[in-house]
Amino acid sequence: MELKKCARCGKFFASDVEVCNVCEKKDLADLGKLKDFFAESYISGLSKATICSSTGISTRNLNRYLEYEEFNDIYLDDSSIIEKTLIKKK
Ligand SMILES: [Zn+2]
Repeated sequence: MELKKCARCGKFFASDVEVCNVCEKKDLADLGKLKDFFAESYISGLSKATICSSTGISTRNLNRYLEYEEFNDIYLDDSSIIEKTLIKKK
């Protein structure tokens, strides 16, 4: 096994996965929230910032999850137009 830097907390650990065992649990919880969000309230063209504020997942982690194969067919609009519209409504 090689020493890797955790993609989430930056701690060094020996494993074949990309996050350490502490963050693995947090990742699983986040992924659960993300899947629920996509299943219940995903609207085409939604911005990443909206998903982050709705789920509590950080932008950095969200970007990492979106590279996973299971989210390959999800399209996210990175422009802030939709985001601004949502903020105004509040
Ligand atoms: Zn970690």
